[in-house]
Amino acid sequence: MKAMFPGSFDPITNGHIDIIERGSVLFEELVVAVMINQQKQSLFPVEERVTMIKEAVKHLGNVTVEASGVLTVDFAREKGASVLIRGIRAVMDYEYELQQATANMMLSHDIESLFLVASPEYSFLSSSTVKTIAMHHGSVDLVVPENVARRLKEKYGENNG
Ligand code: ADP
Repeated sequence: MKAMFPGSFDPITNGHIDIIERGSVLFEELVVAVMINQQKQSLFPVEERVTMIKEAVKHLGNVTVEASGVLTVDFAREKGASVLIRGIRAVMDYEYELQQATANMMLSHDIESLFLVASPEYSFLSSSTVKTIAMHHGSVDLVVPENVARRLKEKYGENNG
């Protein structure tokens, strides 16, 4: 069975990587879909986000990475994925995820949403926290893949690591 993990990944964090690794064990194939959201201003252009994820998941043979500008369920159908994986960190995520999953269910009954609970070490980690730390020149080495930390340093510089 094929699954899709859709998200903004701006940028990808170790919390996302954890969900990808766990998802790749559960399914034969996993497509990470970088969704282009016109309503959200992003730090990294979509192609750079795709490149960063590809570099970070190259140890996983059954994971591919693609960008999409269409509705998630349409992209899942196009790729032959019947399950959408999302991560849940706290109750706050649940409310948003429930809304998204219900909307997706209204649009498509043949695609299921599956939620993986965040690993405790990543349950307080978000792309926005990472951006805030990097913007203020803090070290993000422990919370993002090495290639992402490098790009954030190139963007903002770092003075404590
Ligand atoms: P979106 O804008 O679609 O919410 P994100 O890149 O912020 O995209 O998140 C994609 C998915 O990954 C969401 O389901 C989110 O809850 C999940 N996620 C984000 N950070 C973590 C984390 N630290 N651990 C587990 N799941 C996470």
